[in-house]
Amino acid sequence: MDFAISEKMKTILEMVNEFVDRELIPLEPEMARLSFKEMLPVLREKQKKVRQMELWAPNFPKDCGGLGLSLVDHGLLSEALGRTPLGHYVFWCQAPDAGNVEILHLHGTEEQKEKFLNPLVAGDIRSCFSMTEVDMPGSNPVMLETTAVKDGDDYIINGHKWYTSSADGSDFAIVMAVTNPEAPDYVQASMIIVPTNTPGFNLVRNIPVMGHAGDDYFSHAEILYQSCRVPQANLLGPEGHGFIIAQERLGPGRIHHCMRWLGICQRSFELMCRRANSRQITRDGKTLASRQIIQSWVSESAAEIQAARLMTLHAAWRIDQEGVKAARDEISMIKFVVANTMQRVVDRALQVHGGLGMTDDTILSFFFRHERAARIYDGADEVHKVSLARRILRNYPPA
Ligand SMILES: Cc1cc2nc3c(=O)[nH]c(=O)nc-3n(C[C@H](O)[C@H](O)[C@H](O)COP(=O)(O)OP(=O)(O)OC[C@H]3O[C@@H](n4cnc5c(N)ncnc54)[C@H](O)[C@@H]3O)c2cc1C
Repeated sequence: MDFAISEKMKTILEMVNEFVDRELIPLEPEMARLSFKEMLPVLREKQKKVRQMELWAPNFPKDCGGLGLSLVDHGLLSEALGRTPLGHYVFWCQAPDAGNVEILHLHGTEEQKEKFLNPLVAGDIRSCFSMTEVDMPGSNPVMLETTAVKDGDDYIINGHKWYTSSADGSDFAIVMAVTNPEAPDYVQASMIIVPTNTPGFNLVRNIPVMGHAGDDYFSHAEILYQSCRVPQANLLGPEGHGFIIAQERLGPGRIHHCMRWLGICQRSFELMCRRANSRQITRDGKTLASRQIIQSWVSESAAEIQAARLMTLHAAWRIDQEGVKAARDEISMIKFVVANTMQRVVDRALQVHGGLGMTDDTILSFFFRHERAARIYDGADEVHKVSLARRILRNYPPA
């Protein structure tokens, strides 16, 4: 394992860090005031600059217009971008589009690639991923009620989904629906591409999450699929392979989240240290940083972030070397370790800011609200822990 950063990556990281500091972090106060749609014109201006820097779509494959970075290099870049909630969107490597690009690239037909993948990588359209259902446990995804029934050359889709992130403003959804109800559990469902302007694709609402319904890219939709008719040509991969493909999508997807969360850790840590050094708490000029309890938070946070970073880079390295399957345990470990590290670091940073931390005058309250979900989506902590423990315990027959 070699964590040396190449000269090319060092240059890219310098450019990206500078861009985030100079062009994106100054937009954050506006982000707290405006809707995402209202932010779009300025974000598009920033995206033009990213294209000029030739850093557009850094993690997408080269043959469809991306930069084709390895997972380790993308991890380093993603930490730099994750320091602001706008980073990944402006550089066009955001979830859920990143995962959708991967599966369209691997499993899409030529027609699907032309219609959906190429404009998605180019940034002309956006997409969403619609699997979780209101009445079924997302933690056991083989339990799905949404069906896609064949009718002539079409599928007719019926179902009730929610938490379809970023559906508002998307051009198509990749929908998980049961096509083969008689088959064994893991081969019952398929992925089907559904353009969001199809009659029967009904976006009920953007779900209020921690006080904010959000809009456009920053939102999570509830969707009713009501006799939603799409051509069978929109089937993605073989029929019944929905879960097999989802596993491929979620492996790198989890790594991508962890890398972004490290950026959130780093930014929160920087804010915590600056505040600790500047907030005077005595008349003779002593700052918060003079107190041992704060010093302890600083040291613990630095060590926890570094541990989480090394675990994440190691998992990324293993995926680069041996593929997703070989790195299954590492992926589960980082999913819950990094999510919990982030939660602790953001919480400490917010606490150090006192009342200011609760306001929207710093980015910490945004991180606190939006990132609690990290311990739930893409596999709740408990699900990862249970399945990891099961695999570990198999290696230890009873004494
Ligand atoms: C902000 C956000 C964005 C999301 N984006 C998307 C998206 O874009 N597309 C999409 O399809 N879905 C998305 N989801 C849905 C997400 O994947 C599910 O919420 C998640 O899989 C959990 O499913 P559930 O909510 O139905 O919880 P449940 O399955 O009801 O589980 C509830 C809780 O029970 C516990 N639990 C469950 N199973 C076990 C077990 N085996 N052992 C021990 N404890 C267990 C866990 O603590 C879990 O949190 C998103 C969710 C959030 C919060």
